[in-house]
Amino acid sequence: MFSYKQYQKIINLIKESGKQATFHEALKLDNYIIMRHDVEFSVERAYKLACFEAENNFYSIYFFQVSNNSYNLLSKKNLETIEKIKKMGHEVGLHFHLNGLEQVDEIKRAIEKEIEIMNCKLSFCVDTFSIHRPTANVLSKNIKIPGLLNAYQNEFFSYVDDIETQVPEVKYLSDARHQWNYGLFPDKDTLFKNKKIQILTHPYSWTETGYDNLNNFRTLYHEKCQELLETFDSECKHFKEIKDEI
Ligand SMILES: [Zn+2]
Repeated sequence: MFSYKQYQKIINLIKESGKQATFHEALKLDNYIIMRHDVEFSVERAYKLACFEAENNFYSIYFFQVSNNSYNLLSKKNLETIEKIKKMGHEVGLHFHLNGLEQVDEIKRAIEKEIEIMNCKLSFCVDTFSIHRPTANVLSKNIKIPGLLNAYQNEFFSYVDDIETQVPEVKYLSDARHQWNYGLFPDKDTLFKNKKIQILTHPYSWTETGYDNLNNFRTLYHEKCQELLETFDSECKHFKEIKDEI
């Protein structure tokens, strides 16, 4: 479950379809599959997935949060990791946390500010964003900002009021909450019979071994603890004295 082996099957099918596209390419296409990753908790897991994709000659887009409480996008280590992901051949975008904002104008301004922060700190420019847990209200507004692409704008995502009765033009497959939602899995049938497809995966869900929801969080928790211990270790001399006791 959510192992790299399983992920490899998905990317092999996408490659076989010949339809893989970036958001920019998809703007001009009637037939595409976009692979997008929203990075929620672990830049490290995103990096590992990016390496795995590159080993398989597959390139996608990774969206990072600027205002995340689990990782600091602006730490030297994380910035270097994101640069490496970009150098591998992947694209990088902003995963925008609404943080309670509801007004479209406010949301647009906040997105532009966060893009500016990323552009100040990275050696390349970011021009694509995805919204973290977008509300129905935000999705229905089809937010467009000049010079930027929104993963949820109407060319890449079809907003429907009722998923049970309306057929969206763009098929949207998501592994949110560590499960493929609406019973939709990126199998051959789904990937080949639909013209426009956007797939969202969350790198924290995917590991070499593959875990169920509980064990996935357990392993993630241990990785984050280790990261914190390493930070204490590099920052505090008085931590070294008690390190073995923790
Ligand atoms: Zn998110």
